[in-house]
Amino acid sequence: MGVIVQKFGGSSVADADKIFNVAGRIIDAYKKTDQVVVVVSAQGDTTDDLIEKAKEINTNPSKREMDVLLSTGEQITISLLSMALEKLGYPVISLTGWQVGIQTDSNNMAARIKKIDTQRINSELDKKKIVIVAGFQGINRYNDITTLGRGGSDTTAVALAAALHADICEIYTDVDGVYTADPRIIKNALKLKDVSYDEMLELASLGANVLHNRSVELAKKYNVDLEVKSSFEKIEGTKVKEVGLVEKMLVRGVARDNNVARISVVGIADKPGKAYKLFALLAKGQINVDVILQSIGRENTKDISFTVPADHLDDTLKILNDNLEVLEATEIKYSDKVSKVSIVGAGMASNPGVAAKMFEALYEAQININMISTSEIKVSVLIDEENAERAVKAIHAKFFDE
Ligand code: ADP
Ligand code: ASP
Ligand code: MG
Repeated sequence: MGVIVQKFGGSSVADADKIFNVAGRIIDAYKKTDQVVVVVSAQGDTTDDLIEKAKEINTNPSKREMDVLLSTGEQITISLLSMALEKLGYPVISLTGWQVGIQTDSNNMAARIKKIDTQRINSELDKKKIVIVAGFQGINRYNDITTLGRGGSDTTAVALAAALHADICEIYTDVDGVYTADPRIIKNALKLKDVSYDEMLELASLGANVLHNRSVELAKKYNVDLEVKSSFEKIEGTKVKEVGLVEKMLVRGVARDNNVARISVVGIADKPGKAYKLFALLAKGQINVDVILQSIGRENTKDISFTVPADHLDDTLKILNDNLEVLEATEIKYSDKVSKVSIVGAGMASNPGVAAKMFEALYEAQININMISTSEIKVSVLIDEENAERAVKAIHAKFFDE
């Protein structure tokens, strides 16, 4: 057997008992192959706590300094887990992102991995050491610390699995697989035996944060065998793999994303080039625009509404307000009390009734839709945040209980 990459999330390493539990899972793997690489997250709520600490000092710190701070969480876990394995008598070494040679771009707090130097890990694996790597972090070309965005340890694990040509990448977490909806919200959600890369990528991007969306993108690109499993129960999890192997279910899951804000630019001059100007300004500001809706023009003006991640709202409003005259717009309206609720399934491309069924569920629950967007394998609606949980329940029941 070749290399195994295992990743353990924050709640799986939250205290000493849990660290020893994880050590047990690692030893199980080490007994099968002595080529084990483990990626870990910061313990429990450590990353949130670090963000709070930063706010106490400065409400608008530079992203560079945030990354220096946030990367410390994972460094605590790698050392503690290594100490546990040392105590149990196993050869182990912990490595931070820069020691491994995880090179990223310079987009602090949302950096992308560009290259991994496998030399150091391979030399430790040659010595039959268990290698414990800090997730979520890397260095840019100036040797400055970067982090990969919230939930990014999954991406570290998949990137390492790809670079090391691992046999499998196991993502251990506090649920025992990927479900048809967040099992914390929908008690009777169904566990998926397998899910395609494309479906998982949509689910993850649309708010099912059981996997970091970049990790799924990488797994697809490098054909990494990925499995989501429980850290606590020794049972089969969910396999993420290529489409053909997956049983085609019309809808595979319902996802919800609360990190959304809606913005309307009102009274824009109804002439060519205005949409271009608007979205070029936002692109230059590194704002990810999602659903876009343009109203039909009236009296030589039109309105353009769109969504952005809620944490980009302030930056977006600043850009728009600085450019009101260029856009020839009269007003900017916005709300961050909105949610995006989506259904995902590769089977829906050829089935026109799926969107109607989703809208029927929302109608029956008397939930109003603000915006709609569709692709071949998903339908998303923007609704008021206060209705989001009810919407997920109604839609899930419509597709999975009837
Ligand atoms: P970790 O700390 O292990 O990375 P996360 O909190 O990032 O764990 O991801 C696991 C959580 O993802 C679960 O506790 C669950 O609430 C949530 N989740 C959201 N959608 C789904 C889904 N469709 N299937 C399983 N879990 C989901
Ligand atoms: N510790 C980081 C976070 O909380 C990375 C991760 O857990 O994957 O977002
Ligand atoms: Mg996670």
